[in-house]
Amino acid sequence: MKALRLQQWKSDPVLVEVDEPVPGHGQVVVRVGGSGACHSDLHLMRDFDAGQLPWGPPFTLGHENAGWVHAVGAGVVGLEAGQPVAVYGSWGCGACPRCRLGIETYCEDPAGAPVPGGGGGLGLDGGMAELMLVPDARHLVPLPDGLEPVEAAPLTDAGLTPYHAVRRSWPKLYPGATAVVIGVGGLGHLAVQILKATTAAQVIAVDTRVDALALARQEGADHAVQAGDRITEEIRDAAGGHGADLVLDCVGSTATLALGAAVARPLGDLTIIGIAGGTLPVSFFSVPFELSVQTTYWGSRPELEEVLNLAGRGLVRATTTTFPLEQAAEAYRRLEAGEITGRAVVVPAPR
Ligand SMILES: [Zn+2]
Ligand SMILES: [Zn+2]
Repeated sequence: MKALRLQQWKSDPVLVEVDEPVPGHGQVVVRVGGSGACHSDLHLMRDFDAGQLPWGPPFTLGHENAGWVHAVGAGVVGLEAGQPVAVYGSWGCGACPRCRLGIETYCEDPAGAPVPGGGGGLGLDGGMAELMLVPDARHLVPLPDGLEPVEAAPLTDAGLTPYHAVRRSWPKLYPGATAVVIGVGGLGHLAVQILKATTAAQVIAVDTRVDALALARQEGADHAVQAGDRITEEIRDAAGGHGADLVLDCVGSTATLALGAAVARPLGDLTIIGIAGGTLPVSFFSVPFELSVQTTYWGSRPELEEVLNLAGRGLVRATTTTFPLEQAAEAYRRLEAGEITGRAVVVPAPR
């Protein structure tokens, strides 16, 4: 079969022929109906040198995946061929306290994982191929009725990541509270919907791109403001003058972090989910009092079930542009050029 593989660090991925995977004991092979092209994959292609991460190429890209059960290994129960499933993408050891809660992103025994701190498309073969080997059946979450794999795939990362970040701030998002979403791309356009579906907070979306602001309004944002000279005042005005209870920074640059701190309310949360790598100086007078600043990484398996539940009920829906596997490299090119509205999803195996 064909697979889009990262062959070495600091290179573009290439479509090459690979062997079809065969499931071993406890493992499952999924026929991939959707594999999202994530901004973090561009970092994998551009930023890393050998030895910086505990894993490396070659591997097949694609860490947000859904499809149909294709073949199960010995010992797998409760899954049958043809069943639609989403793949929980962070593969931990499965046995430590965090993994037992389904928070495999924060596995405490990475040496016991299939690859330390990675998963399919992150050191191991991902979903940009017709078939994908999933090393343990626990990583598969059945799709709710009516939700197609191509719709579910982006939810496993672009949906799960903001869902996890929003969920931990729920107690601060009472009616009358304000949430600001900075960056309305793959994660941000889902963050807006998740906030509207799960809280009564007013939602303000921020982006530099007119298309992204239109998308934010379409997804239910109460205000969509273009980043410019008066952005801080405009956000504070929209937030009733007192700042935002949650700022969700889907970019993570030094500029967006500074904006986040400038518009946050005392006692609020500033949560960084974008990996642009910016920094925020913290000192007694530089940030609002009792502002909690945190990074979050991806989400838990139970939270993935919750995101899929929202999608199955029509409350959250990823805006996607689809590409056949043969054009997967083009999907990344357009993502890098800022030409994708919502999420680019590669479809290796059409329904
Ligand atoms: Zn990602
Ligand atoms: Zn673990």
